[in-house]
Amino acid sequence: MSGERFEREFSEMMALIERHGSVLVTGHIDPDGDCIGSMFAIALMLEAMGKKVMCYAPGEISELFLKLPGASMLAGRDDASEFKHDLVITVDSPNTERTEHFARPCEDEDVINIDHHPTNEMFGCVNVVDSDAAATTVLVYRFFRSAAPGMITTDIADCLYLGILMDTGGFRFQNVDSEALLIASELIGLGARAYEIAHEYIYVKKYSTLKLLGLVLDSLRLHFDGRAATMEVTAGMLEKTGTTLKDSEGFVDYGAALDDVELVALFRETAPGEIRVSLRSRNHHDVSALAERFGGGGHVRAAGLTLETDLASARETIVRGFGEMLG
Ligand code: AMP
Ligand code: MN
Ligand code: MN
Repeated sequence: MSGERFEREFSEMMALIERHGSVLVTGHIDPDGDCIGSMFAIALMLEAMGKKVMCYAPGEISELFLKLPGASMLAGRDDASEFKHDLVITVDSPNTERTEHFARPCEDEDVINIDHHPTNEMFGCVNVVDSDAAATTVLVYRFFRSAAPGMITTDIADCLYLGILMDTGGFRFQNVDSEALLIASELIGLGARAYEIAHEYIYVKKYSTLKLLGLVLDSLRLHFDGRAATMEVTAGMLEKTGTTLKDSEGFVDYGAALDDVELVALFRETAPGEIRVSLRSRNHHDVSALAERFGGGGHVRAAGLTLETDLASARETIVRGFGEMLG
C-alpha cells in the first residue's frame, strides 16, 4: 500500500528526530482539526521519546481542541518565540508563511514538512507531501506505521482520528477514500473514541452557535441560476449572538449542501475592512486557483483567502470569479 512510498523520508525523519533534543511542532494559522490532530499526535510521540516539545499555531484556536490529549504542550506566541529548539516539524502548511514564519525553510534550520496541500512549496529538509492523502493525519499515521510502530497510544489514536474525521467532513467529502477509512478503522482498533470525537467535534453545537447559523443561513444568496451560493458572517451577527468567528467553522458546508450548487463562498468579517473568504467546489471547478489569484490557497474543492475590503465588494469580486469559472 501507499505507506511504502515515503519509506526513505520516514527513516530520514526519524533519524532527524533522534539526533535532536528539542522540537517545535507547528501548523497553519487558525488551525483546524487536521492541523491540531497532527501536531498533538507528533508531540505526544516526541514526549514519549523524552524530547522537549512545544506546539504552536498562530491565530485563533477553538477551545474544543484544548480538551485533547497533547493540549498541555500547546504554547502561546511569546513562549513559542522564545523556545530554544533544534528541529521544527510543520504539519498541514503548504509554506512557511502560513505558520507566520515559526517554521523557516531548510536553508535556515532543520525542518520536517508534512502536508497534503497540492501547492506545498517543499521547504523541508524532509518533505512528506502527498496531495492524494485525505488529511495530513493520514500521512502522520503512515509515518507511525513505518517508523514508530507500537507508539500509537489511545491518546495519539484520538488525535489522528480527529484529523481524518474533520478533513473529510465526517467522511462525507470527495477526499474520502479506502485509505482514510482503513486508517480510521485501525485507529478505532487502537482505542480512538470514534463516537465521542464525532459527537464533540461535529455534531454538538452551542445554543449561541445555532442562533448564529440561523442568521448566516438567512444571508444565503443564489447566483447564476442557483449554480453558486454566498453567505456571510458579520461582526454584528457575532455581537448579537454572543459568538466568535471560530463558532462559524464549517458553516460554508451548508451552502454546499444545496441542490445544484457548484460553487460556494462564505465571507467572514475578521476586522473592519478585512474579509476572510472560504470557498468550496462541489465538482471539477478548482477554487484554489481563484483563491491563489488573491494571495490565498488550499485544495481544488476547499480553499480560502483574505481580502482587504468590505463585505459588498468582497462578494462582488468572488461572484465575478465564480461567473468566469462557470462560463
Ligand atoms: P477554510 O475555508 O478556512 O476551511 O479553508 C479551506 C482550505 O483552504 C484549507 O485547506 C486551508 O488550509 C486553505 N486556506 C484557507 N485560507 C487560506 C489562505 N489565506 N491561504 C492559503 N490557504 C488557505
Ligand atoms: Mn488545515
Ligand atoms: Mn488538512
